[in-house]
Amino acid sequence: MAHRVTLIPGDGIGPEVAAAAREVVDATGVEIEWVERVAGADALETHGALLPDETLDAIRDCRVAIKGPITTPVGTGFRSVNVALRQSLDLFASVRPARALPGVPIRHPHVDLVVVRENTEDLYQGIEFERGSEAANALRRELHDLAGFDVREDAGITLKPISVAGTRRIVRFAFEYARANGRRRITLGHKSNVMRYSDGLFLRTFLESAEDPTIGAAVEVEEIQIDHLSMRLAWSPQDFDVLLLPNLYGDILSDLCAGLVGGLGLIPGANIGWEYAVFEPVHGSAPDIAGKGLANPIAMILSGAMMLRHLGEPGAADRVERAVDAVLGEGRVRTPDLGGTSTTREVGDAVAAAVSEAG
Ligand code: NAD
Repeated sequence: MAHRVTLIPGDGIGPEVAAAAREVVDATGVEIEWVERVAGADALETHGALLPDETLDAIRDCRVAIKGPITTPVGTGFRSVNVALRQSLDLFASVRPARALPGVPIRHPHVDLVVVRENTEDLYQGIEFERGSEAANALRRELHDLAGFDVREDAGITLKPISVAGTRRIVRFAFEYARANGRRRITLGHKSNVMRYSDGLFLRTFLESAEDPTIGAAVEVEEIQIDHLSMRLAWSPQDFDVLLLPNLYGDILSDLCAGLVGGLGLIPGANIGWEYAVFEPVHGSAPDIAGKGLANPIAMILSGAMMLRHLGEPGAADRVERAVDAVLGEGRVRTPDLGGTSTTREVGDAVAAAVSEAG
C-alpha cells in the first residue's frame, strides 16, 4: 500500500527544493501518494491564511508531512507557521542530524551527530511580560511578596518553565531514537548549577529515566554544562553522538552544528510528536536566491531520507543518503553555495539518477 504524505512546497526557494526532494524520493520506488497542500505566502493570497485549516487537516490525515521553508512576514502580526505547526500538532521533538558529507571542505571531517531538542517548553514557550505593563508590575509585586525577589521596575520578563512530563517524553524519545538509529551515547546539555529548578529538573529527570531499563537500556549517558559543551563542540565535535538539549540551547547548538558540517543548505530536520511528524530542511526560504535555480536541495533531499526511515523504509533512506554522498563526493554537480555552477534541478536529477542506479 502506498504511504500517504502531505507535501507542502512552502515559498521562496521551497518549491524548487521540494520538487528535487520529491523526484529523489520517487526514484527510490517506494510508493508515495503525495497530498500537496499550500502554506506560506501563496496560501495567504489564495486562502487568506499562512497555514490554512485544510493543510493542517491533511497532515492529521496522513500523519506524515514534508515541507519546504516558509517566510515569516515581519511586522504583520502573523505568527510563524513553523511555531503554529509545532503547537497545533504537538511536535515536541526536533531532530537535526549533522553529518560531515564527502566533498564538502570542513574543519572536522568526522562529525556525525544528532541534535535532539525539546520543542515546546523552556524560554520559548512564549510566556512574556512587557516592561512596564500592568501584568509585569503585578508579577513583580507577586514575586516580591511570595519569595522576596526584587525585579527591577524597568525589566521585561520571559519565563522558563521546564516540566517533568515535558522532559520525560523528550528523554524517552531520545533513547528510542538512539536505539532505532544505532546510536550509542546521549549527551545532555544543561546549566543546572545556575538554573536549579528548570535545567536541574531536566537533568534529574534525564538521569532517573536513564536508570529505568525500559527507557535507558543499551545507551550510554553523560551530562555536560552547556558552556563547556559549546567549547567541546568547537574543539572536537567528532566525540559526540546524540545531544539532548532543552529548547533554547537546542536552537542555538543545532545551528552551530550546521556550521560544523558545511552550512544551512546541507542539514535536514524533523519535528516529531507521538502522533505526527513533519520533515523539513533547517534553512529558511532564502528570498535572496528564490526562483533562480541557485538553491542547494541537499538539505530537503536528506529530509526526504529521514522521512523514508520514519515511514519504515530504511533501505530506501540509505540509498538516498548514499546517492547524496556519491554526487557530492564526485564534486561535478553542485550548487554555487558549495562552489559549483549547477542548478537546483541538476542536483536533484543527479541524486535521483544515483538512487535509481543503486536500485
Ligand atoms: P535563510 O536560511 O532563508 O537564508 C540564510 C542564508 O543562507 C541566505 O543567504 C540564503 O541564500 C542561504 N541559504 C539558505 N538556504 C539555502 C540553500 N538551500 N541553498 C543555498 N543557500 C541557502 O534564513 P533567513 O534569511 O534568516 O530567513 C528567510 C525567511 O525564512 C524568514 O522569513 C524566516 O522566518 C524564514 N525561515 C523559515 C524556516 C522554516 O520554514 N522552517 C526556517 C528558518 C527561517
